[in-house]
Amino acid sequence: PGSFSEQPVSPPGPDGQREGVSNLHEETDPAARAQWALAAQRLARKLGGTQRDQKQILVHIGFLTEESGDVFSPRVLKGGPLGEMVQWADILAALFVLGHGLRVTVSLKELQSNLGVPPGRGNCPLTVPLPFDLIYTDYHGLQQMKQHMGLSFRKYRCRIRVIDTFGTEPAYNHEEYATLHGYRTNWGYWNLNPKQFMTMFPHTPDNSFMGFVSEELNQTEKQRIKAGKASNMAVVYGKEASIWKGKEKVLSILSEHMEVHGTVFYESQRPPEVPAFVKNHGLLPQPEFQQLLRKAKVSLAEGTGGAAIPTALPLFIGFGFPYEGPAPLEAIANGCVFLQSRFSPPHSSLNHEFFRGKPTSREVFSQHPYAERFIGKPHVWTVDYNNSEEFEAAIKAIMRTQVSLRPIRRQRVLGLHQETMPSWEFRLPGRGRQVGPRIPLTSACEADIPGRTGTGHTCNYPEWVTLPGCCRSGGRFAAGGTRLAGPLHHHVARVEPYLPYEYTCEGMLERIHAYIQHQDFCAAPGPAPPGAGVPKSPFVLAPNATHLEWARNASLAPGAWPPAYSLRAWLAAAGRACTDACLDRGLVCEPSFFPFLNSQDAFQKLQVPCDSTEWEMNHLYPAFAQPGRECLLQKEPLLFSCAGASAKHRRLCPCRDFRRGQVALCRDCL
Ligand code: UDP
Repeated sequence: PGSFSEQPVSPPGPDGQREGVSNLHEETDPAARAQWALAAQRLARKLGGTQRDQKQILVHIGFLTEESGDVFSPRVLKGGPLGEMVQWADILAALFVLGHGLRVTVSLKELQSNLGVPPGRGNCPLTVPLPFDLIYTDYHGLQQMKQHMGLSFRKYRCRIRVIDTFGTEPAYNHEEYATLHGYRTNWGYWNLNPKQFMTMFPHTPDNSFMGFVSEELNQTEKQRIKAGKASNMAVVYGKEASIWKGKEKVLSILSEHMEVHGTVFYESQRPPEVPAFVKNHGLLPQPEFQQLLRKAKVSLAEGTGGAAIPTALPLFIGFGFPYEGPAPLEAIANGCVFLQSRFSPPHSSLNHEFFRGKPTSREVFSQHPYAERFIGKPHVWTVDYNNSEEFEAAIKAIMRTQVSLRPIRRQRVLGLHQETMPSWEFRLPGRGRQVGPRIPLTSACEADIPGRTGTGHTCNYPEWVTLPGCCRSGGRFAAGGTRLAGPLHHHVARVEPYLPYEYTCEGMLERIHAYIQHQDFCAAPGPAPPGAGVPKSPFVLAPNATHLEWARNASLAPGAWPPAYSLRAWLAAAGRACTDACLDRGLVCEPSFFPFLNSQDAFQKLQVPCDSTEWEMNHLYPAFAQPGRECLLQKEPLLFSCAGASAKHRRLCPCRDFRRGQVALCRDCL
């Protein structure tokens, strides 16, 4: 306990033997290993002497079991979903690096033997002691456990964490409510604490955000990418040929400006149905896919000879599917701009086949809402693909943010230093001469460029321009002239590789550490029962009278996590969900604070005029219904929900702060 393990630890198997996972060590990519190790060191420093428990953990990956119908494996090598694989790999890595005892099962037989279920006693009615503190699984695994754990399932289900890509909203999770109100799906209705569901992106805070890791570039790599960044290529997001269907118009606009690449799976004898001008690489092994996003830009730039083409950064372009995968984050982390389609009307389980039957009503306003909302410009552009003008304008605007200069002709120059190059010019094919803006130069440039030969003067554009190879070929700029000369590559890279902290190794370790240390769904006393309210109000009206704050002298429940003093509560506008109402205020909804607000007192403190007060089972409550001036309180704690809105209700929303780049954790949550 208290230290991150260098060596794998696993609990004793049924035969009393300890199984190591040491071949994991041997097979992992050394760079990835170094990245995890460095992240672990940084986190250990950050946490200082904080007590860290070592848990015994079972990871049962249900979708990989034969018994679940082998939903994934047959498709994975044929362009099927890989995102889940990425996430499970990272969960395993993180738990391992954090030093927990791990056992991994991918078949029913292994699951049973690890749970201590006697062979042939699938429906064992006895409660067998569970040798694990925590179990990470998915919906398939959950079903298998229910079938094979007998009474133990009920007793130990508070130890289960369900990896659930798109999330499960409380209304779908509560069996009776879901059945009565049309929220019943194939997946939900488990009556777990909604925080036991762990998602791929921070959707609704009703669930825990698990995430995954995207490869992080070090400073040297970032610099290299910045320097070499220049190509007129777009890589299309998606591995299945179906995503290209109906995209002819967009593709033709795109191909006017850029070389279009794809990574669409195909069988060797049957080429994929993509337009002929697309350079399709087929489904690539992940390192090669990353290289495509990264390296191709350099070689293409160099391959274009002396042509005067201002070029743009490689674009990673989404055609609307797949939704919310890891690839856009990888592309942005590799310095690409991600262009994606806006959905209007938004896609959801009500109107779209893909989301149908998923236990969420979440409305998806673009292909990758996280990229749009949490990253945004200059890395992410979201436009309406049905509007050709908007689409083309975006392409051009992106190209302008990422100009790469090339001289129009070679010219030996007798350059002199000057502080400012008056302007540069280049020729666009078919568009004649273009003149660019003034670019400030520094005089310290000569020393900055390695490999310089010849005489004369060279220049170095500080920060955002590099001149790879200019000296080797004797390139110079014309003194006082208006023309760049020499075979210079002037790469202007204003969009830097970017990876949000929560998707780095350290961010993921920090988050999982906090969950393991603080989330306890077994001991939770359960929020206030109906009618009980909160004995003494723990909050006060904020000085500006717009919201409630935690009263300075109010006592805190010991061990409550997140600490309730970060609570701020607002009455949202009618039709606004708490998820959005909190984000509007730069905060995030925190469902564990609902019990503090679920009282008449909260409405009174907020000076809401209640003519009557009702306790009901409704995932929108606590809320205020304006027409009848009714204050509505929540009768069923499992239904407290950040998600959900109705035009009739003004919801009472608990919000909290969050750490920069780590929305899952409040400032004092570590
Ligand atoms: N990927 C890959 N080869 C390719 C294209 C993608 O290995 O040719 C990887 C990519 O790096 C990412 C993973 O596939 O980590 C999942 O990609 P995506 O975002 O498409 O999500 P999915 O729909 O597969 O869940």
